[in-house]
This record gives sequence, structure tokens and C-alpha cells, in this order.
Amino acid sequence: MQGMMMNRPLRIADILTFAEDVHGSAEIVSATVEGGIHRYTYKDAALRSRKLAQALLRLGVTPGQRIATLGWNGYRHFELYYAISGIGAVCHTINPRLSVEQMSYIVSHAEDRILCLDLTFVPLVEAILDHLPKGLRFIIMTDRAHMPETKLPGALCYEDLVEPETGDYEWPEFPEETASSLCYTSGTTGHPKGALYTHRSTVMHALMAGVSFLECLRPGRRILPVVPLFHVNAWGLPYAAPLTGASIVFPGPQLDGASLFKLMDEQKVFSAWGVPTVWLGLLAEIRKHGRIPEGFGEVIIGGSAAPRSMIEAFEDLNVSVCHAWGMTEMSPIGTQGSLAPPLTDLPKEKQIDLKSTQGRRTFGVELKIVDANGQRQPHDGVATGELFVRGNTIVSGYFNNQEASEAAFDAEGWFRTGDVASISPDGFLTITDRAKDLIKSGGEWISSIDLENMAIAHPDVANCAVIAVPHPKWDERPLLIVVPAEGAKPDKEEILAHLAKGLAKWQVPDDVIFVDTLPLTATGKVSKLTLRQIYADHSLPEAG
Ligand code: ADP
Repeated sequence: MQGMMMNRPLRIADILTFAEDVHGSAEIVSATVEGGIHRYTYKDAALRSRKLAQALLRLGVTPGQRIATLGWNGYRHFELYYAISGIGAVCHTINPRLSVEQMSYIVSHAEDRILCLDLTFVPLVEAILDHLPKGLRFIIMTDRAHMPETKLPGALCYEDLVEPETGDYEWPEFPEETASSLCYTSGTTGHPKGALYTHRSTVMHALMAGVSFLECLRPGRRILPVVPLFHVNAWGLPYAAPLTGASIVFPGPQLDGASLFKLMDEQKVFSAWGVPTVWLGLLAEIRKHGRIPEGFGEVIIGGSAAPRSMIEAFEDLNVSVCHAWGMTEMSPIGTQGSLAPPLTDLPKEKQIDLKSTQGRRTFGVELKIVDANGQRQPHDGVATGELFVRGNTIVSGYFNNQEASEAAFDAEGWFRTGDVASISPDGFLTITDRAKDLIKSGGEWISSIDLENMAIAHPDVANCAVIAVPHPKWDERPLLIVVPAEGAKPDKEEILAHLAKGLAKWQVPDDVIFVDTLPLTATGKVSKLTLRQIYADHSLPEAG
């Protein structure tokens, strides 16, 4: 028997309208590209998003069209999120750190009609203009006073577009499965693949985040997304924050430790969200100041494994760590590790053990691990297997890419994550590694994440990565690449001896290489692909 309740479509614009009605005075504070701080409320943001929607319609944007953004974390980018999806078009966020080939590929593949870009990116786009589709229009996200001389044909000024509109506009209704935004994975092999989110998946994800991150997603809190709006919707924060009444502090283009410390201190940020490499910079700055930014109480770490030593460093400063795992294809949050009673009564060391895992699933995300034959493995904390996921916030295929779509799912319709993991009886997920980063040595697997966690705990190591290099006898052996801590002169033998303490002999890396910096991917993670290419011919001591 069918129930008898209304079935109203879930729409992204309703989140902002709700924030306007209920959390109207909560703020969006932005460090701007032009310089200085801009601040306004959700009420202001809602009005300006409606004006922007009117402006886009005036430009002839129609439902389903893709409108691209190339922008830092700031209030205009936030408005574009709501205005573009609100009129039924698709907000395609582009990662500015992609290569020219990747960027021109995705703009063409997405068939973007308009590209909205921050001032910073004008030279970048001018330089690749010849590689972009003809007829692409440009909106520069600034005001008249800052409009640059540019050879981008017909470039429009964002504020000039918004200013004449009234904001007297009702968001249209459409089915909740309507596409809302598009984000391409950075595509370490082959072309980037597009995850095409819907209004329904986005609203569901915001609700799921809202019941997961209870410390920060609530009125009165101020959250800093260092994770970019150009990568998986800044982990959904631009939706979850207005929904729950938390204020947002956008960092703009300055993402180094010193700039983040200053902004967090001045704006009394409670919770900051980002990848581990960003927190290395902030921790160094905290050490310089001998204190944490005022009001700082929580850090959400995801995107790659948070080393235990990083978790301990924050917890020692009374900053609570929540370690989260997810993927572009999952909107992105899959699991998160904030602890609630009775787990908060455990001894601190045990709590850190749990926080070092990737946490437990959020509502609506199902997890399974399988062996090489597709057989389900037990959730006993011991068995490992390839991780598959299922749920309402997970892609059902890739945008206009049948081949990739077919390869992404198993016979039961679960999405293949490409990660290898174990799951404990009480639901804590531990990512052993990305399948392609595991080191296969003599038929045994070595987790690069485990080795990195141990190496980075050494005081002379600022950052590190472990990769597989080919070996004539063992197929692959681990190579440790270390960025020394400032002023430190680490010794190879001593570092290996430090690792040997916690490892079987065959797990200890065969060699250590010292470098000034590690290559990063477009999403700020250490690029192991690049490292594997650089050190493909590295001859290990034992191998001669
Ligand atoms: P990209 O690699 O292009 O940035 P994603 O952000 O979608 O794309 O990356 C998702 C992958 O990042 C996951 O499949 C996993 O390998 C890794 N990852 C994300 N969060 C964590 C985490 N907390 N611990 C370990 N790995 C993580």
C-alpha cells in the first residue's frame, strides 16, 4: 500500500531560501582576490543569488546548459553555485591546477557555454584561449573598478551583471533528479571523468553531513573550507553550512600556513576542513606562534590519509580531529570519524587509534569489501579487500563516458572505489591504500600509507611519500622519499632504523631519498604517479 504524503522535489535553492528565513544573520566572510575582507549574511547571499539568476537568464542561459567556474573560495563563487543550479543549469567547477590539455578537454567535453573566472585566472585563460571552444563566453568575477584589460572576447563584469537586477525572482520547479553540478576527477590515468550531481543527491548529502559533523555544523559556529569550491563542492560545505546555520569563512587564494593562521585568528574560525598537506603548513605556523588561532577547536582532515602524528599534534593542542574519507564520485563524504559517547570515555590513546582510521559510514552510504573473486569479506577488522560503495549520493555512471561507466560498477551495482580497506566489527573503516599505490613485494602487499605514517612521526621528517619501484627479484620494493624538517639533516640509516622498530624486515623500505618538495596533484595531494615516473629507474641498493 502506498503512503499518502506529499512528494516535493528536493531543490538546492531551497537550502539558501531556508537559510535566509531561519539563519538569515549567519555570515559568509571572504578573503577576496582583490584584497581585503568581504562580509555579508545568508540573507544578502540569497538576494544576490536571485539577482545573479536573473542576470544569467538575461544572458540566455537555459536549463541543462553547463556554466563553468574557475574560482577560489569566495562569496561570488558561492552565489554562482546557487544561481546556476537554481535556474536548472549545471555548475561545472574547474580545477585551475589541471594541465592545459585536461582543462581544454573538460571544457569541450562538458560543452560549457560560459566560463566565470576570478581575476587571478585571467592570464591563465588568456594563455589557453586557442585551446578552448570558440563561442565560449566569459564573466570575470569582479567589480567595474577591478576589471582588467583582457583579450578574452566580450568579457563581462560580474558586478555589472548583478547590479541592475531586482532579485524579485522565484526559483523554478523541476524534478529533483535534474543535474545540478559537474566535477571531473583529476584523471591520473586517461581523461578526467565527470561526476554529475543532482539536486536530490546534493540536498541529501547536505542533510547527511548535517547529522554527522555535529560539532561544527550548527548556528554560531564558523567554518573555514580550505578544501576548494573547485573540488567536489568543497566537500559539500556550501550546502551543509547554510542548511544548519553555521557561518562560512572563505580563504580566497592565500592558502599557506601563515595566511590561514591569520585569517582563522581574526575571524575566530572554530572548524577548518582540508587535506593533510595544508595542515602541515598550519601546524608549522602554530609552532612559530606558540599558540593556536583563537577559537580553533576542530579540524576535518580528508582527501588522503591523515598521519597519526598529525592527529596527535592537533589533539595535543586541544583541537579535535575528525578524519574523513570520500571520493569525487561520492559527493564526496563516505565515512567520518568524530567520536561520540561512549567512545569519548575511552583512554586518549584508544581514541587516537579510532581517529587514525577513516571513521564510520555516514547515513545512506553502504560499504562492502571483496576479495579478488568478488567474494564479500567479513567486517572483522582483519580481512582486507577492495572497497565498494552504494547509496543515494554516489554516481550511477560518468557524464558522457560509457566506457568508464561500465567499468565502474560490479554485477550488484556497487561502485568500485579503487581503495583497499578493512572494516572493524563496529564499523570503523581503515583504508590500507589505493589499490594502485600498494607495493606488491614477493607476493605480499605493503601499505604505503602505513610506512608514511611511521616515517612522518620522525622529528626530522616534514613530509614524505612511499612508492613502489620495480625490483628484479621481488617485483616491487618500497622507496621512501622524504622532505626534511626545517633545519634538520636526517640520516638515512637512522630513519630506516626508526621504521624497522615497528615493521617486519621485508616491509622496511630499501632506500631513502631526500628532496626539497613533493609533487602535488591538482587537488593538493602528494602525486605518487609523478613520483613513480621520476623514480621508475631508481636502482635500489640491494638490487645493485
Ligand atoms: P582526486 O584523487 O582526483 O583528488 P578524489 O578526491 O575523488 O580525487 O580522491 C578520492 C580518493 O582519495 C579515495 O579513493 C582515496 O584513495 C583517497 N582518500 C580520500 N580520503 C582519504 C582518507 N581519509 N584516507 C586515505 N585515503 C583517502
